[in-house]
Amino acid sequence: MEFEWSDEDQQFRKELRAFVDAEIPEEWREHPIHRYPDTPAELARVCDFTRKLAERSWLTPHWPKEYGGSEASAWQHLVLGEELWSVGEPRGSQYMSVNWIGPAIMAFGTPEQKDEHLGRITRGEAFWCQGFSEPDAGSDLVRMKTRAVRDGDEYVVNGSKIWTSHLPPAEWCFLLVRTDPEARPHKGITVLMLRTDSPGFESRRIPNVAGEGSFAEVFLTDVRVPVSQRLGEENDGWRIVRQALQFERIGSPRYQRAQLVLEQTQRYAQEHGLMERPQVRLQLARARAAVEAARHMVWTVVDERAKQLPASALAYAARLSVVRAEREVAEVAVCVAGRNAVDASSLSAHNYFHALTAGLAAGSYEVNLNLVSTMLLGLPKGA
Ligand SMILES: Cc1cc2nc3c(=O)[nH]c(=O)nc-3n(C[C@H](O)[C@H](O)[C@H](O)COP(=O)(O)OP(=O)(O)OC[C@H]3O[C@@H](n4cnc5c(N)ncnc54)[C@H](O)[C@@H]3O)c2cc1C
Repeated sequence: MEFEWSDEDQQFRKELRAFVDAEIPEEWREHPIHRYPDTPAELARVCDFTRKLAERSWLTPHWPKEYGGSEASAWQHLVLGEELWSVGEPRGSQYMSVNWIGPAIMAFGTPEQKDEHLGRITRGEAFWCQGFSEPDAGSDLVRMKTRAVRDGDEYVVNGSKIWTSHLPPAEWCFLLVRTDPEARPHKGITVLMLRTDSPGFESRRIPNVAGEGSFAEVFLTDVRVPVSQRLGEENDGWRIVRQALQFERIGSPRYQRAQLVLEQTQRYAQEHGLMERPQVRLQLARARAAVEAARHMVWTVVDERAKQLPASALAYAARLSVVRAEREVAEVAVCVAGRNAVDASSLSAHNYFHALTAGLAAGSYEVNLNLVSTMLLGLPKGA
């Protein structure tokens, strides 16, 4: 077994770190761009950074060359995520296009769709959002009802979505619609790629602790979507989404941000004489163990990917361990530093607010626990 990073991976991390050091000023690290850029200035900052990444082919390094990538290893994709999460994820929502929306278009898109979207993603120009959840369909997504009815060369879409992140600035929505209400629930779903400036598309932000721009509600009234904007076959959406999201569970190595916050917390405890308290030492140690466990779980899944093995249920366990690490770190940060830990837009506050919602976003913690119990531990359903 080989635990060392390869020379290429180490070199990649070194170059990337030098680039990040040059491009991300110290002040941005302490008060990073919110992952949900709200103002035109924040958005401009994200675009400027991703354009510079793209110029070095570092926005989509793991993509095939024919689609603008450089066929870098799964490890280099991870290194990219780790380095960027440690400075507050300055790609904004672009991580989503890079990690799974682009790859879904590569796998299921028509040549015209690939031409239209993939180049814009590799150049860092595309902003997408994900329109899956509905008021009555979250964990149980197959209950979604947003309806699309074929009318000639178009679909007419009616319904609503909720908790849609990155809207604005998203100009495209990766939208799940029900095209066959008579079929078994997961058989009647289709993916449409919808422009968010289409007539009949309205959104309303939902204020919340994770940041004003983190969620929106979407209302779709007689929105006409050309059939040419359908991804894959009609009623094949469930398979497309499952395949596209397979690796997304480990797509955000947020344990890297948690680790930095933990180091800051430890420094705070040392500077304020709090290390004398056994409870503080215990909490810090527990959080450190959680961060390391998350890192190793994610690396195990990346190793499967690097070896081109089929995605396994370990990805669910890895996702759980990342959420757990964020929660442990958030808890000890607040216990040690009090309100300083949730001060405005600090890295620590980012970790804290994210930890509050991380157990829901991209599939809830409890539902993931169920999956681990049945798929990984072999326990009977409902045990
Ligand atoms: C920060 C954030 C960003 C998001 N961004 C998006 C986005 O961009 N696009 C999008 O479509 N959606 C998005 N979501 C929505 C997210 O996918 C849903 O919140 C999630 O799927 C859970 O659905 P729900 O909120 O309806 O909760 P529910 O499914 O109603 O769950 C409520 C609670 O019940 C528990 N529960 C549910 N079923 C079970 C079960 N079978 N066993 C045990 N416990 C269960 C859950 O764990 C949870 O604690 C986002 C959510 C968050 C928090």
